[in-house]
Amino acid sequence: MREPALVPRLRPFTATIFAEMTALAVKHGAVNLGQGFPDTDGPAGMLEAAKNSLFGGDNQYPPGPGRPELRAAISRHRLRYGTEYDPDTEVLVTAGATEAITAALIALTEAGDEVIVVEPYYDSYAAAVAMAGAQRRVIGLVETADGRLELDLDALRAAITPRTRAVLLNSPHNPTGTVFSRAQLEAVAALCVEHDLIAVTDEVYEHLVFDDAEHIPLATLPGMRERTVSISSAGKTFNCTGWKIGWVCSTPELVAAVKAAKQFITFVSGGPLQPAVAYALDHELPWVEQLRTSLQDKRDRLSAGLADAGFGVRPSTGTYFVTADVRPLGFDDAATLAWELPERVGVAAVPVKVFTDHPDEWKHLLRFAFCKRNEVIDEAVGRLRQLV
Ligand SMILES: *Cc1c(COP(=O)(O)O)cnc(C)c1O
Repeated sequence: MREPALVPRLRPFTATIFAEMTALAVKHGAVNLGQGFPDTDGPAGMLEAAKNSLFGGDNQYPPGPGRPELRAAISRHRLRYGTEYDPDTEVLVTAGATEAITAALIALTEAGDEVIVVEPYYDSYAAAVAMAGAQRRVIGLVETADGRLELDLDALRAAITPRTRAVLLNSPHNPTGTVFSRAQLEAVAALCVEHDLIAVTDEVYEHLVFDDAEHIPLATLPGMRERTVSISSAGKTFNCTGWKIGWVCSTPELVAAVKAAKQFITFVSGGPLQPAVAYALDHELPWVEQLRTSLQDKRDRLSAGLADAGFGVRPSTGTYFVTADVRPLGFDDAATLAWELPERVGVAAVPVKVFTDHPDEWKHLLRFAFCKRNEVIDEAVGRLRQLV
């Protein structure tokens, strides 16, 4: 018998929970709060710009590093945090944040290197570390007395070994909605400097922070600009997750490294969409501010509804997501409830434990997406009330 075709290091990554949950949601006509994509369009000016590009003859390969007007707009946008990046040597356009993360890990790590990953983690991280041939060292978030989830700085310190090459950090954090505080990020920065580590930061929700939470790019902290690969993307900021226009900002050396890997993965992508994202970064931030306040309201709407339905709702101060404890409803394992939910009440959600290496520690939480129209959230909440 031949071995299975897929190489062993990728065998854990064949099925995604989203495909399975979406199939189940479709089968039972469930409201799908499992997958995090918005159900309304981005700013009209941006869509118009894309149309003009498509019909204006911009349909061939863009330059390898990305269209110059987009790199310039990304560089201007980053000035909001006080960091300057040369659009010609310090900015790279990628096929979404996902490719940026994977290309960064392939370019910067190799067999024997360790990458520290914080769980629960975005589902592509473990696969990206495996594709790079590196090893992931997983540390968990810890729950504070008031139910917030924070970085476990002791665990981070303990996870660093002579083989540690990089820390992969996501804030605002999917799936928990946690936004790391300045004090926590300063502690991470100090460890990166002390141990000469590279930080790869996934900032795709940089604009989607609520209440008094503030997004602080790790690269803005002392000693970090020179060692941080800062990654973001248009998808979550401008409601265009299908466009897959992302970017990297870093030093010329780190950007050149990521580009070396990226150019042989996709070379380029989304040519006609790049000028539209440049337009959006320059002109549509007031639209994004409205998106932010509307998402904050949706967070409140869904959180209140989940609490009403009997869940133990955890605080969320950013992203598209809120997590909820299923134990008050008499369940021990959120995955059991997640599999039953579409058929029992017609709602789909995702168990947080699928984003971890330690499912037992995370089995009580379900993730719900609130980036949906109010009617959709209300319908889901009405259905979930039938649980009690
Ligand atoms: C959605 C998401 C991504 C993917 O971004 P793309 O630009 O679509 O590749 C990456 N990281 C996190 C945390 C996300 O939620």
